[in-house]
Amino acid sequence: MLKRNIPILLLAAAVPVIALLPLPDFWIAQLNYIGLYALVCLGLVLLTGVGGLTSFGQAAFVGIGAYTTAWLTLNTGLSPWLTVFVGLGLTAVSAVIVGLITLRMSGHYLPLATIAWGLSLYYLMGNLDALGKYDGLLGLKSLSIGSVDIGQGRLFFVLTWAIVIAGAVALLNLLDSRPGRAIRSLKGGTQMAEAMGISTFRYKVTIFLIAALFASVAGWLLAHFQRTVNPSAFGLKMGIEYLFMTVIGGVGYVWGAIVGAGLVKLLDDYLQVALPALIGTSGSYEVIVFGIALVLVLKYLPDGLWSVVARRLPRPPRTVDWQNAVDLPARSKPAMGELVLHVDKIRKQFGGLVAVNDISFDIAAGQIVGLIGPNGAGKSTTFNLITGVLGKTSGQVTFRGDDISALASRDISRKGMARTFQHVKMIADMTVLENVAMGAYTRGASGVVSSMLRTNKLEEQRLMKEAQRQLERIGMGEFMHEQAGNLAMGPQRLMEIARALCCDPALLLLDEPAAGLRHKEKQALAQVLRQLQGEGMSILLVEHDMDLVMDVCDQLVVMEFGTLLTRGTPAEVQANPAVRAAYLGTEH
Ligand code: ADP
Ligand code: MG
Repeated sequence: MLKRNIPILLLAAAVPVIALLPLPDFWIAQLNYIGLYALVCLGLVLLTGVGGLTSFGQAAFVGIGAYTTAWLTLNTGLSPWLTVFVGLGLTAVSAVIVGLITLRMSGHYLPLATIAWGLSLYYLMGNLDALGKYDGLLGLKSLSIGSVDIGQGRLFFVLTWAIVIAGAVALLNLLDSRPGRAIRSLKGGTQMAEAMGISTFRYKVTIFLIAALFASVAGWLLAHFQRTVNPSAFGLKMGIEYLFMTVIGGVGYVWGAIVGAGLVKLLDDYLQVALPALIGTSGSYEVIVFGIALVLVLKYLPDGLWSVVARRLPRPPRTVDWQNAVDLPARSKPAMGELVLHVDKIRKQFGGLVAVNDISFDIAAGQIVGLIGPNGAGKSTTFNLITGVLGKTSGQVTFRGDDISALASRDISRKGMARTFQHVKMIADMTVLENVAMGAYTRGASGVVSSMLRTNKLEEQRLMKEAQRQLERIGMGEFMHEQAGNLAMGPQRLMEIARALCCDPALLLLDEPAAGLRHKEKQALAQVLRQLQGEGMSILLVEHDMDLVMDVCDQLVVMEFGTLLTRGTPAEVQANPAVRAAYLGTEH
């Protein structure tokens, strides 16, 4: 654990040293601005870098924090140590409202909506009499403790950077936790996360809120540091600049926020002086240089400057500290032979195409049922209808006695139905162990705050122990600390099975688990499936590899053009002339 924290410890040690060094005041002031910007950028790392949600509107949240404390301290005489919480409250309310409205938007609509939000707040601040219109509010008090002024110079530097470091630690803690893994899954689309029982929309709103709160604290500090607020510091131009700093620094890295804020601030000041002297006329030419720099960084270092450093830093494997953790509670399982899944005339129409035409079948506990048919027969669609990824046109699915026809995929997974994907869906830059632990998401409860404060440690240990156990169950224990993205196709597919097992399922749905596997790996897979079956697991298998299907399945459901062709044991199906004509004839 210590090794992972070395950069943060170095930074924490540097702060008092810098404060004591005889540096010019100008430098300290620069570092103060860098700290304030870094705080906003930390929020953007979480929101944009990790969560994949682009926001140009962060400056507006800085403005809410700044104006709230400015107005309240000037008009009510409240202490700034209280107004910061009022500011956070107002920011939270506006962020949740804006988030609920905009975060369901996809693609380019979200960034556009944040631009609109940034602009409208800018004009609101600039047009309200109570907020001093475009002149803003003047004469704020500096922050103080008793009679000690800590709102300027070196003491303010220590305060600001203590907050930055605390924020960075909180984010690093969060990203390495149950909710953090859920947040890290957002960028890859919602399907996998939802199948793990994660409400992706809730997490989008959550990270939007956290990023806004970081910005609000920066605004509070900025207002008392400058002792004046006016709209220009919170407009769209600053919103773009914050995003720019984060992207240059490395939008996916907590450290990128600090590097980016520092670099852009220093370069900005340098260019504002150097460029007009060079060109001979005054003007904001630095914007042009930044534009070019951004294009170059995006082209040659799309992950930002910090990615160069991060690649060289050692990645010490996670310390295994969970051997003595208590096992997670297990679900009660159906008895051998009990009906687990009852599919009753499910149907899916895409316009005029009937992709799944009134398909019915059952799965009993301890059974492996194969769903086969030529390409385009409707197998994947059937799979998606059962797991709740697609809505049914009609029909009913009953799982362990409950009608799950109308449930969303994350609610179905909570009931103990787990799946893998035809195309592996994982978080490539997490370890195998962490990826697998995502499967146990619904078996944990710790939230964002406890994760930031690291009070979730016992639960994390229990989740990691379960992930290790499931990896070992399918013979993948040795890959535990590998980066998931470095695995070959075979182990990646097995990793998905371990992840599905982590949800403690009563039914496992596997979509073409043998695709891309070598002969030896297929044999190992068959071995794993038989072993799971022996432990009472029920499995629905969509698979093209006929040897595997005939080898492990108890029952087969054969589809053609969306319709049920036949059902039966592998021997019966193989002997069926209609199947031979439709399917096996073309395959063999
Ligand atoms: P399989 O998995 O058996 O190869 P699919 O379930 O993927 O087959 O597809 C069944 C049929 O439904 C195909 O004709 C396919 O083109 C069509 N289909 C699948 N998904 C969609 C969709 N989202 N919109 C329209 N047609 C679809
Ligand atoms: Mg398919």
